[in-house]
Amino acid sequence: MDDHRQQSTQAAIADIIRSIPRGDHLTAPEVFEKAKAQGLRVSLSTIYRTLNRLKAEGDVITVSGDRGLRYEAAEEGPAHDHLICLGCGLTIEFFDELIRGFGKTVAQRKGFDHTTSRFDILGYCENCKSQDSSHRLLAINESFEAAREKVSQALKELAMSQDFVAARKFNKAYSPLKSAITALAQSLEDLDNLAQSLSMPAEAE
Ligand SMILES: [Zn+2]
Ligand SMILES: [Zn+2]
Repeated sequence: MDDHRQQSTQAAIADIIRSIPRGDHLTAPEVFEKAKAQGLRVSLSTIYRTLNRLKAEGDVITVSGDRGLRYEAAEEGPAHDHLICLGCGLTIEFFDELIRGFGKTVAQRKGFDHTTSRFDILGYCENCKSQDSSHRLLAINESFEAAREKVSQALKELAMSQDFVAARKFNKAYSPLKSAITALAQSLEDLDNLAQSLSMPAEAE
């Protein structure tokens, strides 16, 4: 690609990045789609190279995430930071003087000349968190039900065994008693697993 063409491609891609609504962040393939839609004849690798150059020149900044880097226009004025959900990719921008000051302090302490600092805070959003906890609730409820089912089965077998004894059919009392013991042993194992899952360190709530 000659110099002139490279310059105009870079300008066109810089325009695309600037046209992203504030708060949105695009991946390189998404930038590529937009470039194609505008009739730009570039390859994905050109997009990557150009985005890197724009970043190096300070026109574009990157935001991390589990789906790879995303890009947005560098802005004038106070920089913002991001909360990024690892579950659904939701990205929330925020401004916080305290966190900015923190960047400066760390830089000073390490003998760095501070120019800017940006923080990407990774975690799980409200929505992903509540989906996760309702999954857990469902699984725990099912375990309780299964354990109670086994215990009540054992109680029935016990009663049956006792009835045989009352009827002096001692040899017939043995088998339901063994079944009751087996069911109780199984339910104890299940209850133990259940107790372990409940004592798991709860995630930040
Ligand atoms: Zn942003
Ligand atoms: Zn989420």
